[in-house]
Amino acid sequence: MILESLNFLTKYDNSFIPLSELVMLLWCYFAVVFMDPGTVPPNWKPAADEERGEVDPLNGVELSNLQSDPANQRFRYCRKCSQPKPPRCHHCSVCGRCVLKMDHHCVWVVNCVGALNYKYFLLFLVYTFLETTLVTISLLPHFKTYFSDGEIPGTPGTLATTFLTFVLNLAFSLSVLGFLVLHVSLVASNTTTIEAYEKKTTSKWRYDLGRRKNFEQVFGMDKRYWFIPAYSEEDIRRMPVLQGLEYPSTPDFNAQEF
Ligand SMILES: [Zn+2]
Ligand SMILES: [Zn+2]
Repeated sequence: MILESLNFLTKYDNSFIPLSELVMLLWCYFAVVFMDPGTVPPNWKPAADEERGEVDPLNGVELSNLQSDPANQRFRYCRKCSQPKPPRCHHCSVCGRCVLKMDHHCVWVVNCVGALNYKYFLLFLVYTFLETTLVTISLLPHFKTYFSDGEIPGTPGTLATTFLTFVLNLAFSLSVLGFLVLHVSLVASNTTTIEAYEKKTTSKWRYDLGRRKNFEQVFGMDKRYWFIPAYSEEDIRRMPVLQGLEYPSTPDFNAQEF
């Protein structure tokens, strides 16, 4: 059954499918590379501080005192950037700056993956997986001839190139699939890669709003934009979370857990 499906796919005009995937892959790739992952606005302060001046709203202590108190986790401050950190923001030592909802620094895209380009990064993974899988499937009949008894058509150079392309695409598609599965589980629980390490001891995660809402916080609510590296203007207007500074928490979350 599987072989029949594969044969059908390879008989289909497969030159068009990988090309359209390749265009989407490149679009997503350059979107991740050139999009700012999320910069902390100059002079940004926690919203509660704006109401109460330079006093921490939770215990009435001057912010300047808290800056030197690493034990106080409620007020987050980056000493390297000399600025307060918004929720879910982390300092990237490679970029040398704080990145909003930082997920990780990606060497493949030579950029940080953060609040503003995480969706594009995920789509890049999806299209890379589709592209490498389709190329692998399209080369499968050629690959099978290596193990047949008949004469193998083609020059030695062509045969070597085809063999190498098949193996590389198969290896890439399997490794990207593993990475994709990891990030699907992270999106489902509204967690970044960094937070997945941080919250090991936390039983309840404050940003986990349910799978549907967690998904929408990354991909937006407009279905027409789910598969392209962009957000609709309406989503940007109605979802402050897409700006990377404010994140809704579960109503029953105990504020003592951080
Ligand atoms: Zn920083
Ligand atoms: Zn970085």
